[in-house]
Amino acid sequence: MKFNTKQDFIEAVREFTIQEGRQIKWRRNESYRARAICMWKKRGCKWVDYASKDREETCWQMKTFYNDHICPRKSKNRAANRKWLAGKLVKKLRKYPNLKHGEAATYFKRRCDLDLNKSSLNRALTDARNVHSRLQKIRKESGKWLPIWSGDEHYERFEIHGWPTNMAVDLGKSICTCRFWQITGMPCVHACAALSQVNKDPEDFCHKWLTMDSYKATYLHSLNPIPGEALWEKSQYLKPLAPKVAPLVPIQPTRPNKLPPKRRSQHSTAANMDPMQGASSGTAARLAGVMRFVPTPGFIPPRKK
Ligand SMILES: [Zn+2]
Ligand SMILES: [Zn+2]
Repeated sequence: MKFNTKQDFIEAVREFTIQEGRQIKWRRNESYRARAICMWKKRGCKWVDYASKDREETCWQMKTFYNDHICPRKSKNRAANRKWLAGKLVKKLRKYPNLKHGEAATYFKRRCDLDLNKSSLNRALTDARNVHSRLQKIRKESGKWLPIWSGDEHYERFEIHGWPTNMAVDLGKSICTCRFWQITGMPCVHACAALSQVNKDPEDFCHKWLTMDSYKATYLHSLNPIPGEALWEKSQYLKPLAPKVAPLVPIQPTRPNKLPPKRRSQHSTAANMDPMQGASSGTAARLAGVMRFVPTPGFIPPRKK
């Protein structure tokens, strides 16, 4: 079995262990290999799933898969984290926009036999609602864009015409030139326009962790609590000195300068300039059919040679 990236492999294992109701942990989670073992390994459960980068380094190849648990099925699973739950709920919300907490809990119980604690399910439901409503807005906006198929055999590459500029979308690679899709993991207006053309659901094209890149970034750090200034550590270095500031002189409002009389007179002649001035008689005759000559007051025709 092959995976495009390590993350794909990890997510596949997550999905599988949640369905199986078993808890696993990661060993040798490195840039070129990753091994999942059962939490009950010390108690004799030999379940293992191991994948590593293939020789050409193009994808991840599953090398070992011993799929036999001797441990009992559990209804709690750490793998079913907030991101995973939210990812499932986003799709659910499409069908049932007013999904209640209890209904979500029942859904996970029926589908994966999971018992979830109230707060983690609530957090996931809030995340999912945010993503869902953002996606709804994007879908609405996408109607203003016109997708034009580029003619590729997989029906995946589109030019999206609209204002202020056209964009190029590749549904196969999940990319758009506006880069919104790559950055947030959520299809942009252009991608949504292309997806509606091929009759596909944007929710299926959200990133595996469902736009969770942004969520991940949001919740990656916590802000350290900071005490008042009086308790700040004193620096041993010199304090920075403020630069000298010149005393403020109030600026007197002044009248804008008038144009010098000479320039003014030039302006007036330019405005009334004769379009045929300086043109030869031949040119004037040829243009006569195109441009009508209206003599300005005070016009003196050029002298013939
Ligand atoms: Zn096991
Ligand atoms: Zn885009």
